[in-house]
Amino acid sequence: MKNISILGSTGSIGTQTLEVVRNNEDMRVVALSAGSNIDLIEKQILEFEPEVACINGKDKALELKKRLEGASVKTEIVEGMEGLIEVATVESANIVVAAIVGMIGIRPVIHAIEAGKDIAFANKETLVTAGHIIMPLVKKKQVHFLPVDSEHSAIFQCLQGRSEGAVEKILITASGGPFRNYDPEDLKRVTIEDALNHPNWSMGRKITTDSATLVNKGLEVIEAKWLFNVDYDDIEVVVQPQSIIHSMVRFKDGAVIAQLGTPDMKLPIQYALTYPERRYLPGERLDFKKISEIKFEDVRRDVFPALDMAIAAGKAGGTMPTVFNAANEAAVSLFLDNKISFTSIVDAIDKCMKTHIIKENPSLDEVLEVEKEVRTKVLELF
Ligand code: NAD
Ligand code: MG
Repeated sequence: MKNISILGSTGSIGTQTLEVVRNNEDMRVVALSAGSNIDLIEKQILEFEPEVACINGKDKALELKKRLEGASVKTEIVEGMEGLIEVATVESANIVVAAIVGMIGIRPVIHAIEAGKDIAFANKETLVTAGHIIMPLVKKKQVHFLPVDSEHSAIFQCLQGRSEGAVEKILITASGGPFRNYDPEDLKRVTIEDALNHPNWSMGRKITTDSATLVNKGLEVIEAKWLFNVDYDDIEVVVQPQSIIHSMVRFKDGAVIAQLGTPDMKLPIQYALTYPERRYLPGERLDFKKISEIKFEDVRRDVFPALDMAIAAGKAGGTMPTVFNAANEAAVSLFLDNKISFTSIVDAIDKCMKTHIIKENPSLDEVLEVEKEVRTKVLELF
């Protein structure tokens, strides 16, 4: 039996993880957690009867307890960061699905690894900002750290069976987002609705916005560096607008192996949960007679500077990736609250990075301190 704990069970990745669990009889949910969606987590608790469930905020936790009073479930209700850590470390879990959004996932993920749990990992902001702490810990604790992000799962799948030192280049594909053909002037007029209208994938609001600025691709380059232990110069981003190729690896002999499929996150989620086994997954299959062509383009780096800014932050290292990520998290949240324009997101990241003095090899507390400073700074900018 696979005992699964989910950080962020009410989100896009979280709910799709629960769909995978429903389709696999040997999977059981032992812990759940949500930010604020009390109605959905209540339903999930009644369906999956986990040992523990977490919600953000004391009032919400009290209300959830009250709602469950008459029910037969024995789920312990916890809250806040302590609650998230309890969900991440619950004794019976063998794998934790990190499907929470943002660098708030750092502490729960670190605690889960310390407790010896395998991780099915979607929460990229955590690896971008604390990869230097997390990857050595993964090695020390000898846990599996399995990518769920579609590109990284694709790369991981392409790497199966390789020989040591055989990789020449990691080729991360990008859809290019909804504004792939826009000019800088057009970007100034983008609305929230435009930004949330991704051409190929249906995802949470934050990552959908990140896909439109290409911040997401930048975060993914840093994520790939940590997951696959490669230099930034050995990672290339290629636009593949149809999202048929999920990513590729080029080997030393020139061979390129790609992973293709329909855009369905349940595949990388299930593969992380059943690795190294591949199982039946219901859903649409690629029909190459209908596709007829697969297009590629270069990234328009002048129109979407966020990608190069992320790579620069990654290369600079230390606290700089935290600055890139925290400025983005704060600015995206302002954008989604209709307080700043779309182009202000990347402007805010740029301003924060330009004034930051890097601290090398920061401790967890130092990472979180820089996050706080940057969040305050972004609020002051507008
Ligand atoms: P989402 O917004 O749909 O869900 C986020 C989850 O985190 C929700 O359950 C929410 O309740 C929870 N959460 C948010 N803030 C919280 C807080 N303060 N305390 C406790 N819980 C909190 O996001 P998503 O699209 O599912 O993305 C989740 C992560 O996976 C992100 O890091 C994203 O980059 C990554 N990812 C998502 C996709 C996708 O297809 N959605 C693909 C690749 C990677
Ligand atoms: Mg991705």
